[in-house]
Amino acid sequence: MCGIVGYIGDGNVYDILIKGLHRLEYRGYDSAGIALCAPDGSLNIYKSCGKVSNLEQHCKGKKLDAKVGIAHTRWATHGEPTDNNAHPHYSEDGNIALVHNGTIENYKVLKDALIEHGCTFHSETDTEVLVELIEYIRLKNNCSLVDAVRQALNEVVGAYAIAVIEKSNPDQIIAARKSSPLVIGIGKDEFFLASDATPFVEYTQNVVYLKDEEIAVIKKGEPLKLLNLENEEADVNITELQMSISQLEKGGFPHFMLKEIFEQPDTLRDCIRGRVIDGGKRVCLTGVLDNKEKFLNAKRIVIVACGTSWHAALLGKYLLQDMARIPVEVEYASEFRYSNPVLDDRDIVIAISQSGETADTLAAIQIAKEMGAFVYGISNVVGSSIPRETHSGTYIHVGPEIGVASTKAFTGQVMVLTLLAIAVGRLRGNLSEEEEERLGGYISRIPELVEDVLKLNDKIKHLSLIYTYARNFLYLGRGYSYPVALEGALKLKEISYIHAEGYPAAEMKHGPIALIDAEMPSVIIAPNDHLYEKIVNNVQQVKARQGSVIAIVTRGDTEIANIADHVLDIPEVPECLTPIITSVPLQLLSYYIAINKGKNVDMPRNLAKSVTVE
Ligand code: GLU
Repeated sequence: MCGIVGYIGDGNVYDILIKGLHRLEYRGYDSAGIALCAPDGSLNIYKSCGKVSNLEQHCKGKKLDAKVGIAHTRWATHGEPTDNNAHPHYSEDGNIALVHNGTIENYKVLKDALIEHGCTFHSETDTEVLVELIEYIRLKNNCSLVDAVRQALNEVVGAYAIAVIEKSNPDQIIAARKSSPLVIGIGKDEFFLASDATPFVEYTQNVVYLKDEEIAVIKKGEPLKLLNLENEEADVNITELQMSISQLEKGGFPHFMLKEIFEQPDTLRDCIRGRVIDGGKRVCLTGVLDNKEKFLNAKRIVIVACGTSWHAALLGKYLLQDMARIPVEVEYASEFRYSNPVLDDRDIVIAISQSGETADTLAAIQIAKEMGAFVYGISNVVGSSIPRETHSGTYIHVGPEIGVASTKAFTGQVMVLTLLAIAVGRLRGNLSEEEEERLGGYISRIPELVEDVLKLNDKIKHLSLIYTYARNFLYLGRGYSYPVALEGALKLKEISYIHAEGYPAAEMKHGPIALIDAEMPSVIIAPNDHLYEKIVNNVQQVKARQGSVIAIVTRGDTEIANIADHVLDIPEVPECLTPIITSVPLQLLSYYIAINKGKNVDMPRNLAKSVTVE
């Protein structure tokens, strides 16, 4: 994953880069580093293990004045998170420095060849091979840095977003990408570049999203120039950002995760805006309207995703099957891409990713397109790779999600999938106008219903104290509540490091029930739906084995309320809308348990937000 940032201009290079790194820290925080070309012609590189704040400490008192600089926050793929392995990496002669997001798959072959030519290496990373290769080519062919970068990239197999600076030519940054994101911000007499636009949102709204295998030549005082790997010039398409600085700040909350949980009434409002129309009577998704034939003729839908998005995908299956009556398969993108999938032009592949940059999901999209399927993307980040690589799609429009554990993006994804299921159901004649109107009415009220659920905050905070030191948790649900159970368990694992398993409640008796005792709490999602009576049995089964039960129930429930140890009640909504409502108390529960344990909820260990490597 990793975040990269670069700047060239008259601003304070160091300050801009460090602030940028803080914004990109969600992408990885194993180590951080910065390379600065100083006005006196020196190239100064500082690196430090751990978070960006460590790097800041390390840089105190050092020479920081610069004309141009690049910086990096790392999520290690090759080599441990040590100072040595931290980026920027530099050529042995100290002339060039490079930051990299991605993985160089043929690094071993390249490294061996470079060693034979006399190069020595100081880190275990794949990245160092790239920097040595570029400098080797530059010296051997006596060519410019941009030529050397282009020739080196023609040798490389793998994924990269890179930024390179050169001591002997400090008025430029050479950047390039393939499969890892890179966006360039164009200011007045200054350029920014970064893995996403958050580092420079307050400086410019004019951005260029670099395409795969494009190289950018960023020179002070000159227009931006783009080349492809064949050295042909490419068009520069400037687009306008839709992001504001206030969206990137905590707004009075102690953590981004809590802010994002509490933002959900607003983010869901933004997500449905213009999509539930005529006073809540009609659902309208342009992605469906513009591709009616595809949705009418589809014989199957395959949804590919990873992590939390995969849980949303599973809900998508229930929703689409219920309302559109199309068979749906849900696949982990990482498995799908290597599974020799069977697809043709009557299949629709839906790819879901918050960042729009998930490497495995992007690879799955390529395969689906090659096999003739119509590919529909659901993502949050406008202008990211997935919307650009898919035939059509829908943004969830929930604003930047900074907390590494996804919350508002999950509910946004589920909302879009609900709207999609209704739209396709109507189109194919499987959902009546009355049902559309009934659901549309509830969907319009979802933001206020989520506001209502958020009032459980204090109760959940209190409840969390009882369970902070549990070593294992079971999350159970049936039907629409089963993917919610999976997501609830994942949230707890991610940020509190408590082992938690999500399970279809009825499957419990085929294994996990053996784990239940007084030490093992179960969170049971049991709204008043068509499986309610069945899940009452499952609650009984847990209680009969001394397990304690926290149940999410519909307001007014008495049956489960009488047997469970604790109940959290939610307002009544149609069954297909319960996941958006029931997932909110589970987000709060995991948040408070992690806080009680003193964990860093916004940056859990070993994780990164946008998984742009395999
Ligand atoms: N492969 C590089 C490293 O391990 C970059 C990793 C990444 O982008 O996640 O340092």
